[in-house]
Amino acid sequence: MPIATVNPANGETLKTYEAMGEEELERRLQLAEATFRTYRTTAFAERARLLNRAADLLDEDQREIARVMTTEMGKPVRQARAEAAKCAKAMRWYAERAEALLADEEPTEADVRDSGASRAVVRYRPLGPVLAVMPWNFPLWQVVRFAAPALMAGNVGLLKHASNVPQTALYLEDLFHRAGFPEGCFQTLLIGSGAVDEILRDERVKAATLTGSEPAGRAVAATAGEMIKKTVLELGGSDPFIVMPSADLDRAAQVAVTARVQNNGQSCIAAKRFIVHTDVYDAFAEKFAAGMRALQVGDPLEEDTEVGPLASEQGRADLEELVDDARRGGAEVLCGGERPDGPGWYYPPTVLADITREMRVHREEAFGPVATLYRAGDLDEALLIANDSLFGLSSNVWTRDEAEVERFARDLEAGGVFFNGMTASHPALPFGGVKRSGYGRELSGHGIREFCNITTVWQG
Ligand code: NDP
Repeated sequence: MPIATVNPANGETLKTYEAMGEEELERRLQLAEATFRTYRTTAFAERARLLNRAADLLDEDQREIARVMTTEMGKPVRQARAEAAKCAKAMRWYAERAEALLADEEPTEADVRDSGASRAVVRYRPLGPVLAVMPWNFPLWQVVRFAAPALMAGNVGLLKHASNVPQTALYLEDLFHRAGFPEGCFQTLLIGSGAVDEILRDERVKAATLTGSEPAGRAVAATAGEMIKKTVLELGGSDPFIVMPSADLDRAAQVAVTARVQNNGQSCIAAKRFIVHTDVYDAFAEKFAAGMRALQVGDPLEEDTEVGPLASEQGRADLEELVDDARRGGAEVLCGGERPDGPGWYYPPTVLADITREMRVHREEAFGPVATLYRAGDLDEALLIANDSLFGLSSNVWTRDEAEVERFARDLEAGGVFFNGMTASHPALPFGGVKRSGYGRELSGHGIREFCNITTVWQG
């Protein structure tokens, strides 16, 4: 895949880049290692000052960088601005809290004595250069939610961004540089995915985080495993959105639409499988399909556009195949399902009903505005359908019944269970999945500690 900006709204190639050569990569690895040696000793207050400065600059750049993101990967420009704002907020959150989140931990006095020590503490020390392999779907956010905690912990970052968002990737390096971070704290490596393996094997790289597809995650985790390096993986999802009889149906259907089509449907935590109790199935299906039909699809640079094109031609072809496979298997198409004529990689909001286990769309992640509807006879069946997935990222449940809340919170196989609202990430809440959705957590105190050397300091 060439490293290039290709506008998904019309297929036009706007900018292409040469991949960095061996010499340049060696220079950058050396710089990362050298920078880490001094940066790791900087005070939290200094790191916070720099990160707050980066947040301020990002706020100033918001309109401009939002347009860049939209021309690189097609998200509606209003959502791109919201993404930039969210990144600035996460930077400030970590700037303010990192010191407390990484404060020394002391066991109880009795335990300290029992270990034979006069004093014992647990200290969170940084690991070193961390490689971040990131996707195009939230080209700023995916990177910032790694970079903000990593930099506050005293690590340095090496970004291998997706090949279709090079301008956003270079912007991020420039942003941290302008904020005053020492050169080498955060570097963008313009490389294809084929070059990742060698970099990950380099002893100067201490750990890796990857957000993206299962095959990419498997490749990076395999190499990291061989090299005994820590990884965090945030892979795909096929999140269930369960609607029980006590739900506020109007609100559930309205949020269901947003939860499915946010970011043109290309979000790992988008609700993808809508599992509805039979008592409210028909009413929900009607409201939901009506909401999906009413969406404004079009040029993502237009302010009122709700759904833009998919990020790549291949992405649209993959999605189309999933829909065609379901149709052949007997699924009913309640709306959408036909690619429009004309330029750009558009695909209409689509709702498929009568889904069976044999259909690919039941097992695979539909990365675009395609929803699947399931009818469940009772709570147990809803749980069974929801957990019948290789993924386990997050989940959504609509119910006003407290006993049901407890059951779903106990039994849904996912890294998050969101009731009466859609899954969204927040700096204070851990984010990540189970099963093939990956492992490890981002955000919150859990996220910042992932790339720390948890050190026992024992004094006799
Ligand atoms: P990929 O997983 O291929 O890309 C994500 C990142 O991983 C990119 O930087 C990519 O680089 C890199 N990468 C890809 N393969 C390897 C490899 N073997 N070793 C090291 N790095 C690698 O996502 P796609 O863009 O191809 O999307 C395919 C599917 O992945 C989607 O349809 C969706 O199902 C899922 N996905 C999930 C995301 C999520 O948020 N969980 C985000 C994006 C995709 P390069 O761009 O150079 O190939």
